[in-house]
Amino acid sequence: MTVAEAGTPPRDEAPTGRIGLRLASWYAAVFVVTSLATVVLTYTLLASSLTERDREIVLSTLREYSQTYAEGGLRSLARAVETEQRSGQQERLFVRVVRGRAETLFLNMPPAWNNFDVSRLGGQGALWEQLLSDSGQAALEVAGARLADGTLLQVGKSTENRDAILARFRTVLAIVGLVIVALGLAGGAVLTRSALRPIRQLIGAVRDIIRTGRTDARVPVRAGRDAIDELSTLFNDMLDRITGLIGGMENALDSVAHDLRTPMTRLRARAERALQSNDTDDQREALVTCLEESERMLAMLETLMDISEAETGTMRLDRRAVALEALVGEVVSLYEEVAEEKGIAVVTEVEPGVAVEADQGRLRQALANLLDNALKYTPAGGRVTVDARREGSTVRLDVADTGIGIASNDLPRIWERLYRGDQSRAERGLGLGLSLVRAIVLAHGGTVDVITTPGRGSTFTIRLPGGFDREFITRL
Ligand code: ADP
Repeated sequence: MTVAEAGTPPRDEAPTGRIGLRLASWYAAVFVVTSLATVVLTYTLLASSLTERDREIVLSTLREYSQTYAEGGLRSLARAVETEQRSGQQERLFVRVVRGRAETLFLNMPPAWNNFDVSRLGGQGALWEQLLSDSGQAALEVAGARLADGTLLQVGKSTENRDAILARFRTVLAIVGLVIVALGLAGGAVLTRSALRPIRQLIGAVRDIIRTGRTDARVPVRAGRDAIDELSTLFNDMLDRITGLIGGMENALDSVAHDLRTPMTRLRARAERALQSNDTDDQREALVTCLEESERMLAMLETLMDISEAETGTMRLDRRAVALEALVGEVVSLYEEVAEEKGIAVVTEVEPGVAVEADQGRLRQALANLLDNALKYTPAGGRVTVDARREGSTVRLDVADTGIGIASNDLPRIWERLYRGDQSRAERGLGLGLSLVRAIVLAHGGTVDVITTPGRGSTFTIRLPGGFDREFITRL
């Protein structure tokens, strides 16, 4: 099943809403500030290059007229100014020749510029002077040069044109600025909305799972491979794992309850019978039976729980390098007495230095169960061999006996919980030994199987991944 965004209560929109707003604001702020900085820079560059150009014109004209004056005097200058201004080729300029402090010998002032009071110009011959118009809206920028005869030649230009161009540019920039702000805000909103959509879907799926308690819901995963897709995939994987664990736990709980029902009923029946009887010996005997039965049940419960844990993958394995020589020796010595009593020879053949990475306690438990079975199902005079060696990249542990073997109709069922073979009824046991062995071995990533010939014996083989060499063991 796939959970879509639908049905999202508005309450939970708040967190993504806030993140969205923050992202959108950041995006818009960065976009607007960079764009406006570009606009301001453009404006400044334009303004300064216009000023530069005006000054260039004034200075080159000043140089030209100084030359003209030096060559042909005031007349020649006046003619040149008149010719150029009339031809319209030259920008319109202010030209003045002043003698002494204020005696104007020549003045050319374009007609539209009359609102400049040129009498306020200093006339000291400073390179640049600026004179504001009467209205204060424009300025006359004047450059002056002292000529050979001591007169002062001044050439100037009004900033009116330049100001008009810049004013128009400012209007355009204001409109562009507004468009940029609007685009920034809208772009930020659209981008963050689409970036946050998968997160909202994820939240929707999680909320659905919490609300309905159904772990079969999954987050839709898009084709891309970005961080959000990875998160969605991981989230789905986690759900798969949780579903698997819950299923396993449910099954384990069911089977434990089912497996304990029979002995519990037996226990109750025995206690009830004893209560109805007036014979104290019978009651005492019943108490003993109940005690034994409850001990059996406790052992059974413990083993069932171990099996369930190992099967569901929740068994805690304290994996370390385990030297098999020592482990086999330890387990065999535990059963020495039993073997002796039954008249069975136990032989061990362990390749020196072979080791596996495993939980020592659990591996000991598995091996002990196999050895226990081998001794149980082998008649007196028989022989049990425990063998460990490296086999390619795995380590192989064999427990072989010369016992009764397993009948072909029992063979497929011996790994089942509580299953006991027909021939084994006479022996003590819960029918859980092999289930536990298998669960432990599988939890370690290994395999276990059996080869048997009825009447001649069986060989149980555990294969565990990885084996270490002798050097590794000595370093332990
Ligand atoms: P149990 O408590 O009955 O030994 P297990 O789970 O250990 O339970 O074994 C299940 C059944 O497998 C046994 O009842 C028996 O029939 C058969 N079995 C296990 N090990 C051997 C063996 N070494 N030789 C013959 N039969 C065996």
